[in-house]
Amino acid sequence: MKFDIFTIFPGMFHGPFDESIVRRAIDRGLLDLALHDIREHGIGRHRSVDDTPYGGGAGMVMAAPPLFDSVESVLGGELATTPVILMSPSGERFNQAIAHELAGLPRVALICGRYEGVDQRVRDHLVTRELSIGDYVLTGGELAAAVIVDVVARLLPGVIDAASLEEESFSAGLLEYPQYTRPATFRGWSVPDVLLSGHHAEIATWRRQRSVELTRERRPDLLGPDGEPPPERVG
Ligand code: SAH
Repeated sequence: MKFDIFTIFPGMFHGPFDESIVRRAIDRGLLDLALHDIREHGIGRHRSVDDTPYGGGAGMVMAAPPLFDSVESVLGGELATTPVILMSPSGERFNQAIAHELAGLPRVALICGRYEGVDQRVRDHLVTRELSIGDYVLTGGELAAAVIVDVVARLLPGVIDAASLEEESFSAGLLEYPQYTRPATFRGWSVPDVLLSGHHAEIATWRRQRSVELTRERRPDLLGPDGEPPPERVG
């Protein structure tokens, strides 16, 4: 899968993508990340990408021409078939379901806004979807794009063990059960007996119950309208 990221700060992605799982996915050819500097299509001698807002008001707005030029020149003939996603606090809230959807696509373009945001014509005529990573305002879309790439990357086939994906938070509509590792007793705090018992069915039941309890307590919004958890998957 390929992500094309449009930004005026390509350097911001080096830290997060140079290590660990995302790095390995890139090295193994499972994920392709292309960073495109919008400023290469900036206007005039200063390669300007922003201007003052029509109608007045605080701050600057990212101008339409550099964004259109940059996205169109990179995507070319694939523009019509590639989702062009704007990072935006007023977008649809990103979640695990959207991540699965994106992980099934061959190519996705992400636009990182800066300043007060982008000219509305970019949203109306270039962008096909807007995504927000939460109800707060970042200084720019780069961290949001990095979050989306990170979440999608671990869902791509071969990136991490498929079994770890099945049981984790949100995948079954529930939060994940508590996890423990050695030592069995630490500062007098013991691991629940059932986990040391070796009884797979009892362990599965215990984990399911803890997941349901935790979800009821912390995220009742994830449960059905009747407060019931989603049916347990078998097999
Ligand atoms: N004035 C804008 C905020 C601009 S913040 C408003 O009130 O909506 C600058 C850029 O950061 C945005 O264009 C967007 O690309 C990015 N950004 C800020 N918060 C974000 C969030 N919660 N999710 C995704 N992108 C965000």
